[in-house]
Amino acid sequence: MSNQLTVRPLDLKAATQTMSNRVYIFDTTLRDGEQSPGCSMTVPEKTRMAHKLVDLGVDILEAGFPIASDGDFEAVDAISREFPWVTVAALGRACTLDVERAAQSLKHARRPRIHTFIATSDIHLKHKLKKSRQQVLDEATAAVELAREHVDDVEFSAEDGARTDAGFLEEISKAVVAAGARTVNIPDTVGYSAPREYAEIIGRVVKALGDSAIVSVHCHDDLGLAVPNSLAAVEAGARQIECTINGIGERAGNCSLEEVVMVMKTRNDLYPYSTGINTEHLYSASELLSSMITFGPQPNKAIVGRNAFAHEAGIHQDGYLKEKSTYEIIDPKSVGVPEGKLVLGKHSGRHALHKRCEDLGFSLTKSALDSLYHRFTALADRKKGVMDEEIIALIGEREAKHAVGD
Ligand code: MN
Repeated sequence: MSNQLTVRPLDLKAATQTMSNRVYIFDTTLRDGEQSPGCSMTVPEKTRMAHKLVDLGVDILEAGFPIASDGDFEAVDAISREFPWVTVAALGRACTLDVERAAQSLKHARRPRIHTFIATSDIHLKHKLKKSRQQVLDEATAAVELAREHVDDVEFSAEDGARTDAGFLEEISKAVVAAGARTVNIPDTVGYSAPREYAEIIGRVVKALGDSAIVSVHCHDDLGLAVPNSLAAVEAGARQIECTINGIGERAGNCSLEEVVMVMKTRNDLYPYSTGINTEHLYSASELLSSMITFGPQPNKAIVGRNAFAHEAGIHQDGYLKEKSTYEIIDPKSVGVPEGKLVLGKHSGRHALHKRCEDLGFSLTKSALDSLYHRFTALADRKKGVMDEEIIALIGEREAKHAVGD
């Protein structure tokens, strides 16, 4: 349990200064994401999504949980055949049946990864598994050894890791690495941790494992901290982030791939890490996923939401039209959004309206613009936004009036 953690201050700088700054992106859209409500995908849909994730440049593509369903097995198999050069991961609990099934589903992958997990927190041991720490440790190492008989690349996850006793977490991490795991994932399965605490947990495991394994993070967004927790973990020495497109996943979802990647890219001065992500595919990846599941990102979602690059307030629009960098920190094109949008509404000013009229092919005198602006704000007051057609109609109305007056 978290309140039993003995948190000792850790010299993160000393622990991480010799490490590479390359952070691996482990995409679990097709596994953790797909297993959440409204997100089921068929095998052909998963294969299409996998194609996009490959274009995007994810390092590891978790394609399913093969023991869970035949569909999951087929998805891992299909993706392994179609994209043999990609590291494809299959999930399985730390038991023979699951590990064997995962291995079988990866038969055609050239770079297969078996990802096996067991819960390690006392709360899960007591109420869910009804097992002792020793039993869990033995089952974890046995599963990793079995997985290593099939593949070289084995990842172990300590489920509910963020609420696991720090000493036990260190012990099991060392044991699975000795058994052959190359990646040790410490998930915040229930989205309970916070950046400072999570950094301490991760830092301690990083220090214990040294360069014998990559430490990975897998954060849930129950408190809206999945992205900040993942970044804090990277600062503490984690070098793999598990994440999903649009942040889909169990309950409130996983760490959003597009957000965590764009923080490291946009604020590289603060987060001097690199990924292999081709960011100009982010928006289309988000759109493709939205077209296959039952919901898209909320309009105000960072990076990929409909309003992420839309400016409505008059002061903002005026500044944006003079120099984009006044209100835009990311070039929309860098994430595959054609360009920033000015939304014309009741908060818009003359400058934006004038620009839109010009874009629509109308050149107005100052007095014509003043008169149009007056009628525009009257209309905008009654509406959530004004469409281009309505602006054209307003211009037309004035011309009609003049014709009558003449
Ligand atoms: Mn999860």
